[in-house]
Amino acid sequence: MDAARALENFAASRNGERRGTPVGFPRLHEKGKVTPSFRLRNRTTAGRSPLSHRIRFSNPSHLRLPKFGPVKVFGPTRKVRRLIDAGRFHIYSATLRQRAGRWTVSLTRVAAELHQAERSRSDRHAVPVGVDRGIISLCVAADANGVPFEIFEGVKTLKQAQTVLKKSNQALARTKPGSKGHQRARSRLARRHRKVVNTRQHLVHQVSKTLVDRAQVLVIENLNVADMLRNSHLARSISDAAMGELSRQILYKAKWHGVEVRVADRFFPSSKTCSGCGAVKSDLNLSTRTYTCDACDLVIDRDLNAAINLARWQPKEPTAEEPLASTRIVLLSTA
Ligand SMILES: [Zn+2]
Repeated sequence: MDAARALENFAASRNGERRGTPVGFPRLHEKGKVTPSFRLRNRTTAGRSPLSHRIRFSNPSHLRLPKFGPVKVFGPTRKVRRLIDAGRFHIYSATLRQRAGRWTVSLTRVAAELHQAERSRSDRHAVPVGVDRGIISLCVAADANGVPFEIFEGVKTLKQAQTVLKKSNQALARTKPGSKGHQRARSRLARRHRKVVNTRQHLVHQVSKTLVDRAQVLVIENLNVADMLRNSHLARSISDAAMGELSRQILYKAKWHGVEVRVADRFFPSSKTCSGCGAVKSDLNLSTRTYTCDACDLVIDRDLNAAINLARWQPKEPTAEEPLASTRIVLLSTA
């Protein structure tokens, strides 16, 4: 299935039907260079008793996988099992993935639509809310009237983690490749990386849920992922990765909750525009944390200014609806 999709992307890219970076002919994964992962399919038709499924919960704490048998699951499974029993959750596949010595099982299903009351809540913020990535905080949200909506902190944990990461990196560099010490240092670094990723993921989930719960219209930046990946500076790459993940989560959660998301085009100068008078600065250094307008003497926090500008951004033409993606529920398990 993955090979077919890769071939489709390749063909579409060559025919000019696919925009963005050109996609090459699919290659085989190289051992040791990619995350080890594989997928097991639940070859059972929907509607049949879950007891006959190849992938199923054999009891509250064990997920049964073909060939593997029961695998212990950490964390509560009650919600998932209830949905399965009610026939509202059909497991299509289980993806097993290894990250830093630990295996994770992800279950894929098609999401049931949320209740209408949840999709059109009346207590949401009526004016559009702009979300800008912060330099100090994870992101800053503000509405079109210039009212700060929320500042999501939480980069502190990631900052602390960065110091630890840097130390582990240096420790690894001091060891001799191929030695026992090198292996130990490498797995320690991988574990710390995993912790950073988990912390960030948790934080980003909280932020994206808060945003779709409280706003009716969200405006986000169109981030250039390829540019972000080229950035090797640790602090920046961590916050960029969080922002990329935040937009991804906002997009799918907004669909569930009936929230409109507008994606500002990449060349919209959200940081350089003055939210007071609309003047655009020709140059704004990344280290400048406060925006000072030369035209109207407005002094405002840089991220807040950008968020207000995003909130006021208007699409030139209506954006096309994208198909609803399938969702994953992640359960943790040790190897
Ligand atoms: Zn101004």
